[in-house]
Amino acid sequence: MNILFMGPPGAGKGTQAERIVEQFGIPHISTGDAFRLAMSQGTPLGVQAKSYVDQGLLVPDEITNGIVKERLQAPDCGKGFLLDGFPRTLSQAEALDDILASLGKRIDHVINLVVDRDLLLGRLTGRRICKSCGATYHVMFNPPKVENVCDKCSGELYQRSDDNEEKVGTRLDEYTNKTAPLLEYYSKKGLLREVNGEQDIDVVTSDISHLLRGQAE
Ligand code: ADP
Ligand code: AMP
Repeated sequence: MNILFMGPPGAGKGTQAERIVEQFGIPHISTGDAFRLAMSQGTPLGVQAKSYVDQGLLVPDEITNGIVKERLQAPDCGKGFLLDGFPRTLSQAEALDDILASLGKRIDHVINLVVDRDLLLGRLTGRRICKSCGATYHVMFNPPKVENVCDKCSGELYQRSDDNEEKVGTRLDEYTNKTAPLLEYYSKKGLLREVNGEQDIDVVTSDISHLLRGQAE
């Protein structure tokens, strides 16, 4: 099953992706994670992406499309994949259609996590991520059992450098201007399904899971 997760920064895409890929046995492909890894390793991709990510701006399409094209060709995508944070522009969506067509694949479901903009700043500034396994927490809404320690692997938690008020403002503007128009693109293709992302994390997972399995919400 080939799935896209849409929704603004902080909607819960990464949190839900961690759970859904476990249920379906498919890889989680996050372009944001790919950029952060490349930046932490100081690779040429990381150096190229850093100035954009640090400002909360989208990385240019040519750079972003290249990593997705390469990743989707890996053997572990044979059973399917969950793309989180890509596409984010119309040109990325068109590039994705071309990449998938060349691989003889197509998108099966586009899930849009709907969360009011007023809630997003609090979600993003309270987000903490495990340095070792990448699991996502929230200081209030989804805290680890022991402060700053990952429940799953005992790794140390950190706060992303772009999860502050100033960068969040820019990221939300980028979302509104460049990414939100994609909802219509997928709606016209008959692929878009909406899930209320303001519910408890477990309820959101269950709604997504039901939709993907073709049952009523
Ligand atoms: P995204 O990947 O869409 O940017 P995340 O999954 O990282 O979003 O979630 C952003 C923050 O909100 C995290 O700290 C996460 O723990 C928290 N969060 C995710 N889903 C919910 C929810 N349903 N209710 C409350 N907080 C949530
Ligand atoms: P995320 O982890 O999805 O919140 O993404 C973090 C940052 O990585 C974004 O603010 C962008 O700078 C960059 N990024 C991630 N995905 C994309 C994409 N599809 N297109 C352009 N930039 C991206």
